[in-house]
Amino acid sequence: MSYELNDKIINLVPYEPISGDYSIRLDANECTLNYTEEMLGMVHNIVDNLNFNRYPDPTCTELRKSFADFYGLDYKNVTVGNGSDELIFLIESAFLKKGDKMLVTAPDFSMYEFYSSITENPCVRFLKNYELNINVDALIDSVNKEDIKLLIFSNPCNPTGQGIRKDECIKLIRNVNALVVLDEAYMDFWDESESLLKDINDYDNLIVFRTASKALGSAALRLGFAVSNTTISNAIAAVKSPYNVNSLSQAIGAQLYKNKSLLKERINTIVENTKLLYNELVAIGKNIDDFTVYPTKTNFVFVKTPFGKELWDYLKNNSIAIRYMGDYIRITSGTKEENTIVIKTIKQFILEKNYARS
Ligand code: PMP
Repeated sequence: MSYELNDKIINLVPYEPISGDYSIRLDANECTLNYTEEMLGMVHNIVDNLNFNRYPDPTCTELRKSFADFYGLDYKNVTVGNGSDELIFLIESAFLKKGDKMLVTAPDFSMYEFYSSITENPCVRFLKNYELNINVDALIDSVNKEDIKLLIFSNPCNPTGQGIRKDECIKLIRNVNALVVLDEAYMDFWDESESLLKDINDYDNLIVFRTASKALGSAALRLGFAVSNTTISNAIAAVKSPYNVNSLSQAIGAQLYKNKSLLKERINTIVENTKLLYNELVAIGKNIDDFTVYPTKTNFVFVKTPFGKELWDYLKNNSIAIRYMGDYIRITSGTKEENTIVIKTIKQFILEKNYARS
């Protein structure tokens, strides 16, 4: 008897965003605000009353209702995943047939393409322009010419922080012969009027994602949401594993989405902090060659710089984690205090290395 790992998994290594302990973690676009006392009280109450001996509700009905109410939707259009990550994998594996092609834009969230390598669906990359924007007409052309069956992208985009306006998204959805998965993980930070959440019933080829991991500050719960017309929602519900979302996360999520004013207040704080971080980085960039700071619609700032690796190392040595991505770095906005420390440390780096123009 013998077994060898197959080609598609033999060289894979488990995902580990960054190893080590850091006093400031700004590498994963998480919400830096942890739960308040009030929120923790709610969690304790749930733990005290939970039936740990029972399987979770496979339909996640209470959570779907609460999520749907928060965004003004019908809960029948909502399916819940163990984070959007699970939904990405599920949709790529179930909605594509063997050998069907999919398309991602680049740069974009890397898991879209990663899962296609597991499901064995060829993945075409559509490159963004120098400003990191997408020419929607060219994208439509590419999808149709390449006979793409599924197109997935984040809007606003991780890692670029850029947003595609709603009318452009609509043009895209209307003109491609493919299923469009629009990942709105960061839309809470931009503008709900640019979202297509409420328009899903107008299209037979649209799935919109949301997550509790960013604006809701609940990455630990692993809650992702797929919003689509009921034909697609029913299909997602039918292919997902029955107990994919644990009871504790369902119950906490359901309570969180009911607290609209608290969530809105927290989102406003994050947006304000991100603006401050962006402004400080722009000011730093004014005195440095090749330090391009991109405007952001999210809770992070994307920067093009030739010394990204060096800066990433320097910050790590000062117990600050950010994301290094070749020609770019991505810095999640922290609390005001954390952002102040990051900016101070970046300035210190630039001074020490003599990177500023004299
Ligand atoms: N989509 C995008 C664009 C993301 O950036 C991330 C996480 N970084 C995810 C999805 C995954 O979200 P979740 O935590 O819900 O799996």
